[in-house]
Order: sequence, then structure tokens, then C-alpha cells
Amino acid sequence: MATTFEGVIGLEVHAELLTTSKMFCGCAVVDSTTAAPNMHVCPICLGMPGVLPVINRAAVEYAIRVGLALNCEIAPYNVFARKSYFYPDQPKGFQISQYELPLAKNGYLMIDLPDGSTKRIGIRRAHLEEDTGKLMHIGNSSLVDFNRSGVPLLEIVSEPDIRTADEAEAYARKLRALLIYSGANTGDMSKGVLRMEPNISVRPVGSDEFRTRVEVKNLNSIKVLQKASAFEIARHAKVYEQGGTIKQATLGWDEMRQQTVVQREKESASDYRYFPEPDLPPLHISREWVEEIRQQLPEMPDAKRDRFLSMGLSRYEASVLVTERSVADWFEQVLAAGAEPKKTANWLLNEVFARMNKAGLDQDVIGTIKVTPAALAALIKLVDAGTINNNAAKTILDNIFEQGGEPAEWVKELGLEQTRDVSAVEAAVAKVMSDNPKDVDRFCAGEEKVVRFLMGLVMREGKGKFPADLAQQVLTEKLTALCGSK
Ligand code: ADP
Ligand code: MG
Ligand code: ZN
Repeated sequence: MATTFEGVIGLEVHAELLTTSKMFCGCAVVDSTTAAPNMHVCPICLGMPGVLPVINRAAVEYAIRVGLALNCEIAPYNVFARKSYFYPDQPKGFQISQYELPLAKNGYLMIDLPDGSTKRIGIRRAHLEEDTGKLMHIGNSSLVDFNRSGVPLLEIVSEPDIRTADEAEAYARKLRALLIYSGANTGDMSKGVLRMEPNISVRPVGSDEFRTRVEVKNLNSIKVLQKASAFEIARHAKVYEQGGTIKQATLGWDEMRQQTVVQREKESASDYRYFPEPDLPPLHISREWVEEIRQQLPEMPDAKRDRFLSMGLSRYEASVLVTERSVADWFEQVLAAGAEPKKTANWLLNEVFARMNKAGLDQDVIGTIKVTPAALAALIKLVDAGTINNNAAKTILDNIFEQGGEPAEWVKELGLEQTRDVSAVEAAVAKVMSDNPKDVDRFCAGEEKVVRFLMGLVMREGKGKFPADLAQQVLTEKLTALCGSK
């Protein structure tokens, strides 16, 4: 029987920390995709000889926050280390990192799988380090921008507990959410402030061995992480099935060809000649400080999801709402404006998201759309009060989404106020019934679902002004009467 293989994946994630200044100097942290190059540099982050780095307290605080959010132990005694390697984007010839004594270790993250189950992924360690500069290759020249050199970076390393490409994706989404919730990172992967590197191997299902792994470098989208992981799992399985061996290597992702490419054969830790950074004292983190930070931690996604569940939302609704912090915040602003949670979730997840999706907007930019939380709350209240029906509300939402404005004004502008004009509804019902005799016959023959179709036609006749309950009532009465007379 052919062996079936399962994936073994551990993720290394690099997250820039949202400090105002760099890790070891006073230079500003700027958007490296837009700022003029090499304008935010000094002798320290340019690696001039004889300069002295100083640890950024804010970076340490963010790192503790993330460590706590990942259920890690926070080390009381931290040592920074030099990781020696040469690369043109790194003028010192070494990177200041942490090696034997990381700031955080032994944590875990609960991931949410598509089937509704959860799984625990171990966090091996999270340590502080500094980012490198940025290389750009243009034609025959290579350019380097040191603005990013020395930006605080947190490296978060998982245990190899991830088994599939979809689990890798779920892990990445959850970790990104935690980083955003804890205020440590914007989560904007397209700007390179959050980068992911999966280590991937496979093994026969049921075994607990660890085989040779490859590492895919610097992925800047979660979709690509998923694709690269799936690609490598399939490739390894095929190589083993054919009796081959996998070479340990560092790979990249080729988006054009949708496959991985070898960048270099992998160096091992001993190549880096780690040693304690002589220019920095050991960093002591007091238990009091850790507890203070723990008290101030904002509500994390799982806790928020449970709170949303207690408001009567479904597990699916609650999970989707908390995935992006900006969406969760927006949702709560609608509630704060007086709308009911279940209806708000419905309107947000179905109607608002559909319109954003159609406009090509990602969910996390919800704060920038023309529909304000107050406007959605007002719209829901207009439906509740019977001023407008659901269809009219959707039309109004279309208009607000395109042009902004207040629901009440749009009701007037579009003349969508409902009228309990029984004779108008009766006339529309009579017209729909005489226009659609076959459907009426099907109803009389017992096909009750025809009512929904006819209801749609009646409501259309009303141009958004018929109260749905009235239309439904008149339609069923007339249909039943007609069938009885046949
Ligand atoms: P390094 O520091 O050399 O990159 P680590 O031992 O710190 O190596 O592991 C890096 C990552 O690789 C971790 O996320 C770990 O879970 C993962 N990993 C370790 N062994 C394997 C393996 N056999 N297959 C897949 N991932 C692995
Ligand atoms: Mg590695
Ligand atoms: Zn500097």
C-alpha cells in the first residue's frame, strides 16, 4: 500500500513593532514603501564603528504584550546577541538579535479551522531583533535604503505543530490578528511590516519523525504562504514516493510560475557565530512590569468572539467579526449607536461586506467606507420602526455606499417611506396573480414555495413602499381564496 504523507510545518514570523523610533537609536521609524530613502539614518543604524546602541523601552513593551498574548513565559533576564553575517543591506556585518535567552518562550496560539474546530499550535519563542535595510535591484544596479535598518523586529517561532497548508493559513491569520489587537503591528503585509517564513517537511501519517525541511523566505501574503506550503508538501511527498531525498535549502516563491525556487542551501546556526552583544547590558524585565502590561492588554480575538457569542450571534458570525480588529470595532460602534447585535451582524456580514467586495475593498479598510457605523444603525432602526422595508433599506445602503449621507435623507430623496395603503397592495397582488396564472396553479397544487416568488413580484410592484407583512398577508389571503374557489 502506498504511504500517505502529512505536512510538518513550523512558522518563523517577523513583525516590525509600531514604535516611533528604532530599536537601538533615536531615528524615526517610517513607511519604507513611501519615505525618501536614507533620510532616517544615523551612525548607529548605519553601523559606524565605535557607536553605542541603547535598547528601546517601547519595543520591549510591545514584545512583552505580544508574548503575553501568545501565552508565553516572559524571561526576567534577557541577553542580546550578535548574529554575524554579511549582506549589503546590513552595514554592521552582524544583526543584534537574541539567541539563547529570548524574551518570550513556551507559549501557544489557538487556531480556528474551517470546520469550526480549534487546534493548539505551540510557540517555541519570540525574540527581539533589528530589521535590515532594503535592497532594490534596478537594471544592472543594486540600490540600498537604510531607513529600515534598525527598526524593531519581533521574531515569533512556532513549534512544528502545523500539519496542512490550511492550518498554516489559519495560524498566520490568527497571529496577524493578535499582533494587530495588541497594537504591536499594523498587519499590512503588502508593506513588508509582517513577513512569514514556513519551514516545511513531510512524514508518513502516523509517524512522529522529523525529516529534512526547507524554509520558504519572506512571504508577504497569507495566500502565498498557503500556496507555497501546499506546493512544498506535495513536492516532498512525491520525492519520497519516488524514493528520492529532500535537500535542506532556503527557497523563495515565484509568483509567475506559482512554484518555489531554490535560493541557497541553508546555513546552520554555527555559521552565524552568535555571541553576547558586548555593547548592551543584559536586560532585566521585572515581574511588576510584566503584570502591569498584562493588566493593560486589550481584549484579544477569542475573548471578543465569546462576548459576541453571548450577544446571540452565531459562532460563524462572531468569528468573522473578530478576524479583523477594524471590523470588530466598527461592529461595536454600530451597537453603540443603538442597533441590535444580531441584525447588525446580518447587515454587516451580508450587505456591507457584499458591497465592499464588489468594490474590491478588503474587509480591514471598513473604517474608510462612506457608510458610517451611525448610518448603518439608523438604517436598521428605520426598518425596525416600519418606516422602510428591507428592500428599500438595501437600496438606501447602495446609495450611501456610493455617495454617503444619512438614511433618513435618502428615504425622503428616494420616496421610499412605506405606506400601509391596503388598496394599493390589493391592486398589486391582483395584477401579479393575473400575470402569473401558472404559478398560481402550482401554489394551488400544493407548491407553497411559489409564494416567495410571487411575494418578490408584489414587492417590486410596490417599488419599495409596501410593508412586507401587509403584502404577505394580502397575497396569502387572495391565493388561498382563489384556490378554494377552484
Ligand atoms: P533555525 O533557527 O535554524 O531556523 P529552528 O530549530 O529554530 O531552526 O526552527 C525553525 C522553525 O522550523 C521552527 O518553526 C520549527 O518549528 C520548524 N521546524 C523544525 N524542524 C522542522 C521539520 N522537520 N519540519 C518542519 N518544520 C520544522
Ligand atoms: Mg530559520
Ligand atoms: Zn539611527
